[in-house]
Amino acid sequence: MSKVLVTGGCGYIGSHANKLLAESGHHTVALDNLVHGHREFARWGRFVKLDLDDRAGLVKLLAAEKFDAVMHFAGYAYVGESVSDPAKYYRNNLAATLNLLEASQAAGVDKFIFSSSCATYGLPQSIPMDEDHPQDPINPYGRSKLMVERILGDFSSAYGLRSVCLRYFNAAGAAPGAGIGEWHDPETHLIPLALEAALGKIPAVKIFGTDYDTPDGTCLRDYIHVDDLAGAHLLALEYLFQGGRSDCFNLGNGNGFSVREVIATARRVSGRGIETEDAPRREGDPPRLIASAAKAQRVLGWKPRYTDLAEIIRTAWEWHQR
Ligand code: UDP
Repeated sequence: MSKVLVTGGCGYIGSHANKLLAESGHHTVALDNLVHGHREFARWGRFVKLDLDDRAGLVKLLAAEKFDAVMHFAGYAYVGESVSDPAKYYRNNLAATLNLLEASQAAGVDKFIFSSSCATYGLPQSIPMDEDHPQDPINPYGRSKLMVERILGDFSSAYGLRSVCLRYFNAAGAAPGAGIGEWHDPETHLIPLALEAALGKIPAVKIFGTDYDTPDGTCLRDYIHVDDLAGAHLLALEYLFQGGRSDCFNLGNGNGFSVREVIATARRVSGRGIETEDAPRREGDPPRLIASAAKAQRVLGWKPRYTDLAEIIRTAWEWHQR
């Protein structure tokens, strides 16, 4: 069993990966600065409060702990904020990651798994999108992720720090009964907002754009359960342990659901009414984002367990009612 540093271990996806790693017998240290993370999400392994800005602190931690691998989830992920305050995104998602990479390299860590995003592709030129789709991000968030991908490629060639970049499509759901789930402040994502409307916490969910060239006029997204994302990280770790070379993989279900379909499913699952309000398009939203995850299936042996949108939303609903 290995020892893994999980940055952003108190965040949504990081906490799910930390849980799965611990349950699979790995030793973990969940690192988080608790700016967006929740201390109570670090329920597995050890917790260290540290900011990736703290280069000396990182070097010291990595030198002392002798990690076999690093899983890097920490990062800001508000696309709109990245447009209005790009410096914040390049400092936190790029410069801080460079600190982590240098500390990893100095400590002799040779396996690195990175939370990347379908936002690195930009506007889709073909659907479904595979890993060979051109990468031309349309916002600083996507660019910060792509830049890290490129740096990882260089670190792999120069220093032998092998890496797997996992490009998530739309993460959704929660690990059943685990006390962790999607909890962003402010919340901007569709499924949590629809469920907050179902709970009466907000009056209605806005539908951003009803005039897209899609079957019902609203955007299609590929929703993938957070436990399936966590599972892919474990497989990526195994892949690197077996000597796999640096590579990138898409993670999605390969199905697109419209905003209206998601809201209708949330109504069915919750048994509650959800008011909607038609709103203008949100800047930078492509009409369709649908993954081909054939490569992750072929190379990593990844197979999502949650393929039904209602099942995914059911686990989110359970979490939101907490
Ligand atoms: N969306 C919406 N209303 C909201 C939030 C999101 O209509 O209050 C739409 C958004 O335009 C996109 C889809 O729902 O088409 C998924 O958005 P989300 O923010 O959840 O994830 P993203 O695709 O931006 O990563």
